[in-house]
Amino acid sequence: MLLNGKAIAQEIQAEIAGQVHQITGRKPGLAVVLVGHNPASQAYVRSKKKACALVGIQSLVIELPASIALSDVIYEIEKLNQNPSIDAILVQLPLPPHLDESQITAAIDPNKDVDGFHPINVGKMLLGEEGAFLPCTPLGIHVLLQKSSIPIEGQHVVIIGRSNIVGKPLAAILMQKKRHCNATVTIAHSQTKNLAVLTRSADILVAAIGRPHFIKKEMIQPGATVIDVGINRLPDGRLIGDVDFESVSEVAGHITPVPGGIGPMTIAMLLQNTLRGYNDQK
Ligand code: NDP
Repeated sequence: MLLNGKAIAQEIQAEIAGQVHQITGRKPGLAVVLVGHNPASQAYVRSKKKACALVGIQSLVIELPASIALSDVIYEIEKLNQNPSIDAILVQLPLPPHLDESQITAAIDPNKDVDGFHPINVGKMLLGEEGAFLPCTPLGIHVLLQKSSIPIEGQHVVIIGRSNIVGKPLAAILMQKKRHCNATVTIAHSQTKNLAVLTRSADILVAAIGRPHFIKKEMIQPGATVIDVGINRLPDGRLIGDVDFESVSEVAGHITPVPGGIGPMTIAMLLQNTLRGYNDQK
C-alpha cells in the first residue's frame, strides 16, 4: 500500500493555514539563509517560500554570495536572531566548503532553530525532552508513520544512513521511551557488513543513502514498511529514490513514493515548526 506523503502533507498544511488565518496582527515569519548559487538549494528554497505563501507564513530569503566570510554569515544570523518579525531561521545546506557548518548552526537562536540542528535542540531531542525543535525530515517520517497507523512500538526499525540531518535524529526520535516511539533501532552505513541480512530483519526500513534504487526486493522482509528518503536526480531530470520502487512494492506492506513521499512531509514539518516557533515567542 502506498504511503501518500503528499496527501498527508496537504492535510497538515490545510490545518496550519487555518491556524495562521486566525492570527490577527503579525503573521509567523520564516527566514531562509541561502549562501551561493547551488541550483538544487535554490530550488529547495523556492519550494519552501511557495509553501509558506500557501499557508500565510511570511518568508524572507537572505541571499549571500558564495565567497562570504564566516563572520559575515554569523552577523546576518545574529540580525535575524534579534528581528522580532522572524520566528524561525534556517540555513540552507550544503554550505560552500570554506564555511564551518557547525559554527553557523550554533549561531542560530535555539528558540528560532526551525531545522533543529543547534546543539541545544539536538541534546534535548536525544534526552527525549519536550520542547525541542525536531529536524524536519525525521519528524516528517515519524508523523507519516503515525498518521498511516503503522505500528512503531516494539518494531525493528533499520535506518540506512547516519547523517546528522536524517539517520541519527530519526534513530534518536524512534528509540525514545515514549508512546508512538519505543522502537528497536539499528543504524547501518557504508561500513556495515551483511546489509541485506540486516534489512531483511526490518519491520520498518528507512533508506537515507543518496544512491538511486540501491534497495532491491531481495533486501525486504515481506510485509515490511519501506520509507524512501533518497532524492536522486537522473541525467534526464527525473527524481528517483534510494528504493527500487517497482520491485520493492511487490513485497513491501507499505511504501513511500519518490517524489510525493518524505519530501512533502519535510516541508509540512518546516511550516509546523515555524508556527510553533511563533507560538512559543508570543
Ligand atoms: P549523507 O550523504 O549525509 O548520508 C548518506 C548515508 O548513507 C551515510 O551514512 C553513508 O554511510 C550511507 N551509505 C552510503 N553508501 C552506502 C552503502 N553502500 N551502504 C550502506 N550505507 C551507505 O546523506 P543525507 O542523509 O543528507 O541524505 C540521504 C538522502 O536523502 C539523499 O538522497 C538526500 O538527497 C535525501 N534527503 C531527502 C530529504 C527529503 O526531504 N526527502 C531531506 C534530506 C535528505 P557513511 O556514513 O559510512 O558514509
